[in-house]
Amino acid sequence: MSASIIDGKKISQHMREKIENKVMTLKNSGVTPGLAVVLVGDNQASKTYVSMKQKACEKHSIYSTLIRLDEEISEQGLLDKVIELNNDSAIHGILVQLPLPSHIDETKVIETIDPSKDVDGFHPINAGRLMTGGDGFVPCTPYGIIEMLKYENIELAGAHAVIVGRSNIVGKPMGQLLLKEHATVTYCHSKTKDLACHTKQADIIIAAVGIRELITKEHIKEGAVVIDVGMNRDDEGKLCGDVDFQGCSSKAQAITPVPGGVGPMTITMLLANTVKSAEKHSL
Ligand code: NDP
Repeated sequence: MSASIIDGKKISQHMREKIENKVMTLKNSGVTPGLAVVLVGDNQASKTYVSMKQKACEKHSIYSTLIRLDEEISEQGLLDKVIELNNDSAIHGILVQLPLPSHIDETKVIETIDPSKDVDGFHPINAGRLMTGGDGFVPCTPYGIIEMLKYENIELAGAHAVIVGRSNIVGKPMGQLLLKEHATVTYCHSKTKDLACHTKQADIIIAAVGIRELITKEHIKEGAVVIDVGMNRDDEGKLCGDVDFQGCSSKAQAITPVPGGVGPMTITMLLANTVKSAEKHSL
């Protein structure tokens, strides 16, 4: 068997057309969706992510503003900035790029963002809404993955989904979304004994760990759907995922590549969340 490739760029483009229509409708009623991105310090990877997010906003006529703060800014200084953005009616989405310098408490910053502008979906109120079935913001990466699975018509109800990784940003919300779609969900993590024993039972595997080629063809069953969230670098510095793509392609039914799989969807869902917030705020 040779797996079909789930093309994140194509699905993302399809979703962006819908987003663009919503932006037009909002603009026609006098509302321009606005995203504020807060970047503290000089981390190169963070600067790259922030620039990608801003370019995507620009491309789809979403207003975006970058607030660059010095690495040395005090925690209170950052919290004050967030509060200012909470009160700014031109801003519908606030994103504080993580990680933050070690003297700043990330949890405190996330909890200061107005939940109605928390387009990253990290605020406990939004995490709680996801868990209890309420209408909140869903973290962009798992949101993108569930949209990808739906676009590909992959049967979720009754499927056994095994998620490798339990972070608040990817693994945990991924499980909640799959549960909502009636999948049976298993979480694996660094303390899981015999990872392959669990992953081999999966109809759908979501690998969100950050270890290059952790998931090999020995970890999957014939016909599984394999979603690779990982963003790692190989020996030549090239971007690669958590999955041995070549090996797993020979056994899987469908698989996401890295790059070109989950990554493009993440930014698209940030745009979707920003537009959703603008719609809600303009009601
Ligand atoms: P975290 O480091 O927060 O979480 C990693 C998870 O993997 C933890 O739950 C950890 O377990 C688990 N883990 C570590 N080692 C093993 C192991 N040997 N076996 C099984 N599980 C293990 O990472 P994130 O969730 O933030 O990100 C995961 C990956 O996805 C990274 O490569 C990141 O760069 C990428 N990413 C990609 C995005 C995209 O848009 N494509 C967006 C976000 C992330 P424990 O909890 O026990 O420590």
